Amino acid sequence: MTSNAHKARYVPTRQATIADRVEFSGVGVHNGSAVSLSVNPCDSNTGIVFVRTDRGQTGMDIPARFQMVCATELCTALGVGASTSVSTVEHLMAALRGMGVDNAVIEIDGSEVPVLDGSSEPYVAAIQQVGIRYLDAPRRYIRVLRPIRVEIGDRVGELSPHDGFELDITIDFSSKVIGRQQVVMEVTPDTFVSELCRARTFGFMDDVEKLWANGFGLGASLENSVVLSDDKILNQEGLRFADEFVRHKALDAIGDIALAGYPILGRYRSVRGGHRLNHQVLQALFDAPDAWSYVDMPARREKAAGTIAAGVAVPAFGPDVS
Ligand SMILES: [Zn+2]
Repeated sequence: MTSNAHKARYVPTRQATIADRVEFSGVGVHNGSAVSLSVNPCDSNTGIVFVRTDRGQTGMDIPARFQMVCATELCTALGVGASTSVSTVEHLMAALRGMGVDNAVIEIDGSEVPVLDGSSEPYVAAIQQVGIRYLDAPRRYIRVLRPIRVEIGDRVGELSPHDGFELDITIDFSSKVIGRQQVVMEVTPDTFVSELCRARTFGFMDDVEKLWANGFGLGASLENSVVLSDDKILNQEGLRFADEFVRHKALDAIGDIALAGYPILGRYRSVRGGHRLNHQVLQALFDAPDAWSYVDMPARREKAAGTIAAGVAVPAFGPDVS
């Protein structure tokens, strides 16, 4: 279990975008197709928006919002109608949310975000290289006011109140290499970069034929996934963390919960979760208007603790400190 020593909370008051355009190319882990993608700076209150540049005039903006989720089988996909969608958005969304990027326009010339090395690190490294630009606009949060819980069999997902964003993720696999693992962490750009962003996606050799038959995993390889077979890790380089598997599930959860559209002030706990459960918890939250409220940061920079909308006192940090 990862240490819960990181107590610092990350509640910036202003919105951010990235300081310059960054570009990537690679293949989709599921469709196996070559794809190019760029992340572009944009104005405040844009949010994260995908644009399918290969669709020409018919290419509609696809906001990265939970209402746009069209599939959660093995990855999270967003779509406007059947013909225009973007799949496997979660590792890029995790990088943006994890780094505190509120606004960006993502241009992509295919239907699946490139898997790169199977983690969020290449996205994080590129964002770090160009830097983050704070915008003259107050940041909006979604504050969780009461627990929201979804149970599907032995899977549990729960959002509950917290002044910051904390994750508590548990996985439990029969594979001896994985077993039961838990990570509990206050998520800030510092902890995201040092503890989570390098954790890669993983899969089992035994599942490969079934995945391929269903059109999944066609781009998966030892270059972009940790692959397990008979309780052995096939990657020669081994693991990046002893508990890389649960750290990757935490990364996925950050990307999926980012589809709330605004950063969450709350704690997200999941046991044996995944993309579908993450989505269902968000759906349950927004189906319960008494369970959350918007919190708008004060427009000008505050240095001391302040009282804001709904009479809820939260610490108001400067925009550029964590
Ligand atoms: Zn993932």
